[in-house]
Amino acid sequence: MKRNTWQREAVREALDDTEGFISAQALHSTLHASGSPIGLATVYRALGDLASSGEADSLQSPEGEALYRACSTTGHHHHLICRNCGLTVEIAADEVEAWAKGVAAEHGFTQAAHVVDVFGLCANCTKLVVADGADSKVEADRG
Ligand SMILES: [Zn+2]
Ligand SMILES: [Zn+2]
Ligand SMILES: [Zn+2]
Repeated sequence: MKRNTWQREAVREALDDTEGFISAQALHSTLHASGSPIGLATVYRALGDLASSGEADSLQSPEGEALYRACSTTGHHHHLICRNCGLTVEIAADEVEAWAKGVAAEHGFTQAAHVVDVFGLCANCTKLVVADGADSKVEADRG
């Protein structure tokens, strides 16, 4: 099926040009701004395709929104994601693989798959937060 190939390529290119994770809606706006006539439903479909073929990462934001990102690592892996700036680190997690397989087998499950992404604050954002915290402690000195 060669249907919708240019749309998929357009979506993939836009995703490649994006730093960090982006929602289908935001990517659609970006494409529109650059003059593409692509529809939002097509963007959703193309992102779903890219995610299922492993060319894009997909995850749920803490707010429950589906987010996508061009993936630099092929094959199964996990992510550390900064919830403040969106920095993403691709990680292997051998312990998780062994645990997931083991716990599935224990319950008689086969073909088990899992998605594990860790959200937190990156080193830079942690520094910013610590600086903020120090500020609020100085409050007692004001007034
Ligand atoms: Zn990835
Ligand atoms: Zn950060
Ligand atoms: Zn895994």
